[in-house]
Amino acid sequence: MIKNMKSANELKQLLQSIDRKSYPAYKALAGSWQFQGYLLVIDHVQGDPFASPSSLHVEIEGTRAGFPAAYYEKDCFRIALQDFLTRQISSQFEKYNFKAKGSGKSGLLSISRCGQEVLQRSACEIKNGKLTVRFQAGFPAFGRTINAGELQKILFEFLPSCVENSLFYEKLDKKKVEKCVFLSEDQEALRKILQKEGLVCFVANGSILPRKSGVSDKPLLNSVPFASPASMERTFLLPHHGEIKGMAVPEGVTLIVGGGYHGKSTLLEAIQSGVYNHIEGDGREFVITEDTAVKLRAEDGRSIRNVNISLFINDLPNKKDTVSFQTEDASGSTSQAAAVVESMEAGCKLFLVDEDTSATNFMVRDELMQKVIRKEKEPITPFIERVRDLYEKAGISTIMVAGSSGAFFYIADNILLMDCYKAVDITENVKTLCREYPAPRLSASGFFVPEFQRVFPSCKQNGKAGKEGKAIGGRPSGVRERHEHMKVKAYGLESFSLDKESVDVRYLEQLTDGEQTAALAYLLRLGLEKVFDGKRTVQQGVELLYDTLQKDGWEAFCSSYVPCGLAKPRIQELYACVNRFRQ
Ligand code: ADP
Ligand code: MG
Repeated sequence: MIKNMKSANELKQLLQSIDRKSYPAYKALAGSWQFQGYLLVIDHVQGDPFASPSSLHVEIEGTRAGFPAAYYEKDCFRIALQDFLTRQISSQFEKYNFKAKGSGKSGLLSISRCGQEVLQRSACEIKNGKLTVRFQAGFPAFGRTINAGELQKILFEFLPSCVENSLFYEKLDKKKVEKCVFLSEDQEALRKILQKEGLVCFVANGSILPRKSGVSDKPLLNSVPFASPASMERTFLLPHHGEIKGMAVPEGVTLIVGGGYHGKSTLLEAIQSGVYNHIEGDGREFVITEDTAVKLRAEDGRSIRNVNISLFINDLPNKKDTVSFQTEDASGSTSQAAAVVESMEAGCKLFLVDEDTSATNFMVRDELMQKVIRKEKEPITPFIERVRDLYEKAGISTIMVAGSSGAFFYIADNILLMDCYKAVDITENVKTLCREYPAPRLSASGFFVPEFQRVFPSCKQNGKAGKEGKAIGGRPSGVRERHEHMKVKAYGLESFSLDKESVDVRYLEQLTDGEQTAALAYLLRLGLEKVFDGKRTVQQGVELLYDTLQKDGWEAFCSSYVPCGLAKPRIQELYACVNRFRQ
């Protein structure tokens, strides 16, 4: 029994006793209440009916929820089940959202809205044999007066029914649950196959790649299913799905070419999203990509902090140092050069590049231009002259869409033509053709793998000293002394802010859910407050933060309670945020 835990009946009585009082009297409800079959915890009560809604969670013993033990224990099963349950309860909540009435957010009942990807969310966690489901509710009021009767409906009618219908195995379609966890095991198996076979991605035959629209991530109806060219087709055996056939892209440099509108970017986008698992019915369930893949793109205007971009850029006319390059306002080419080097620092093994979103002068320079602008006068060594060395000397593969310059043909191991959404392997034909034309300059001298020793500057601030929290990673705390916590705000896939400082995440194409943005904000906050002490390198700090998330969970990042609304990002996106924080 948890200390201070009271019965649901006591909650009901307390609730009735504060009816018609002024809103802050709701605060008395905070605490743990034992309901039939689950524990209800009211973590935080909103200050007034117009403020952010109150935070609550329910806890259910796993044995009581009754799912097979393996679903709780095996990582991929557990993650898939958490996602499944979040979707279940979310659809239950929809029935009751705003069914209790009142002013402001009275009656709101909400939990994470999951998209096409399976993510680990604070909304639902299975840990140590216990299910925790976090959500928000708007405590009802007339004006600013407590309406106990309406909250009673939420807590004693709506919620018990939602919990009962979505979190107990007995009440669910067992086949559906099984299908969902088995899919996750197949996806995991395919990820292992990629590693074992030296592949960077797999796109199953029959996959549906295009999305409904720029604003909907659902599959496009009546689209052309993917089919692998015979030369790249491989068959693998998955534990539940059985045999699966599709295009296996080996390590190295892969080029995707084709006329405009023939489906090149769509294929690349499906591949970049393949770092995540997708739900049944998405069409990309078996589009699986090397986990560390990073989409590289131009991002004018971003800030860059002490990045060695000299592989690509040297001798700038303003004599700026490119070995430790800094700017508050990057150009297209410097931003993309920095992205390459930062991604290497972040452990990336596969670059994804689309000419649509690249700086042309960063990618390639044609022969005539090479003649007109002599090498000594051109600060940029284009990507094309580094891409082979990146693979051969640094082990980083590239898949790129480049339909505008034939120069890329010479450096590619595999060339894929997209022809009316059909993938055709044209490697042999093109290589024959290449022999008839003189090759342009394809490689630059002086390749090296940069060292990643840059230190993240300490955020020690002057001003009022605040409470010192426990430091993580065994160093003294008090790196940041302004006040206890920076104020976190997240704006979907656009940006987040820490106090007044905003971090732009709009061009992190592999960030897939606004809840990841919120999580990144919390991660970076802990980084600034307790990890980046002016001595740790960026790499050490980011790894420590990410390890803390893996080991200690959301609790390590949140103040008094873990809210609903956080989703786990990849470490690559955490690096990207640290790199975009301006200070
Ligand atoms: P590209 O990059 O070659 O110019 P896109 O990938 O942007 O082409 O695709 C162009 C259009 O074709 C998009 O509207 C996309 O949704 C659609 N499309 C892509 N792949 C398919 C497909 N397999 N079946 C049907 N439509 C598709
Ligand atoms: Mg395109």
